[in-house]
Amino acid sequence: MTQITPQPGIMDIAAYQGGASHVAGVENVVKLSSNENPLGPSEKAKAAFARAGHSLHRYPSTDHTGLRLAIAEVWGLDAARIICGAGSDEIISLLCQAYAGPGREVIHTEHGFGMYRISALAAGAIPVEVKERERVTDVGAILAACTDKTALVFMANPNNPTGTMISAAEVEKLATGLPPQALLVLDGAYAEYVEGYDGGASLVEARENVVMTRTFSKIYGLGGLRVGWGYGPEHVLDVLNRVRGPFNVSEAGLQAAEAAVRDTAWTDHCRKENAAMRVWLSDALAEIGVPSDVSCTNFVLARFASAAEATGCDAHLKSQGLIVRPVASYNLPNCLRITVGDEASCRRIVHAVRQFKNGAHDVSDL
Ligand SMILES: *Cc1c(COP(=O)(O)O)cnc(C)c1O
Repeated sequence: MTQITPQPGIMDIAAYQGGASHVAGVENVVKLSSNENPLGPSEKAKAAFARAGHSLHRYPSTDHTGLRLAIAEVWGLDAARIICGAGSDEIISLLCQAYAGPGREVIHTEHGFGMYRISALAAGAIPVEVKERERVTDVGAILAACTDKTALVFMANPNNPTGTMISAAEVEKLATGLPPQALLVLDGAYAEYVEGYDGGASLVEARENVVMTRTFSKIYGLGGLRVGWGYGPEHVLDVLNRVRGPFNVSEAGLQAAEAAVRDTAWTDHCRKENAAMRVWLSDALAEIGVPSDVSCTNFVLARFASAAEATGCDAHLKSQGLIVRPVASYNLPNCLRITVGDEASCRRIVHAVRQFKNGAHDVSDL
């Protein structure tokens, strides 16, 4: 028997399951399971990535100045308080590494993003799950769950996988009500999908206890490159920059992300296309008896009558080459999360769900 054991907490982690991308024996598959941008990245980002191919032997920038300045310029922020990471997942992990740990509590919501719990456990901390109210973040419940051990409070706004969002006033109430040792982490992975929303940047600037995380994986269409960023008060940046690896983001990633954030015309185009197709998709699904909450993101959380119906529909969609995301592990067993694809994909989804509702699965799948 080996005596080699990991730190306490590690074996409590259920490894993260990414969205599936293949169905055995089915061709012409459409992947709508990971909230990727169906329009892909900006052409300027692709060109910048290709140019970076000429200097692969060089180590990347350690201070990420070019990308930080571009983000600061586009969003009107202070470049000195921006940190870049290998996806926002790395920022989440750095926050846990730096602020959580044995004896400290990390709050996340009932249907919150899986990486909060994983990163908290990886740091040896205690994850604390707080109920939502009908799939919406409940600020009162979060505040009631705070103790003198609360180190971090994670909430995505808009949230994944629910797609719902709470108001700036509610978020401010949360930040104001936290105990003095707690840091609020506002995950803005879908912030760019909300017209006119700053992701919480102004709250970060007004306070000492709020950090915002953002990503290039969603609207910017660069999930394969792994680039994210965070914005926080000076004291938090000082801490995170001590923990961060010097070469944590590749040069190709930095260059592509810089071009992507500067191409605001493409981002605007993607936001508008997504908003139009999202309304079309959720309306069409509602008409065939599959309701969803109003989504502020690039996905729709489709609600079925039961877990069995959701599972059955998922199987039928798979048989049609349509991969969506079952969310039972997010305490939503009767739901399927469907990324808003291009028009053809949305039409295929609605067609297949209608077939399923009409009993097509009895004939073809069973
Ligand atoms: C997709 C997503 C992320 C982004 O992760 P990256 O590591 O930046 O790709 C972060 N938070 C939420 C809520 C997400 O849905």
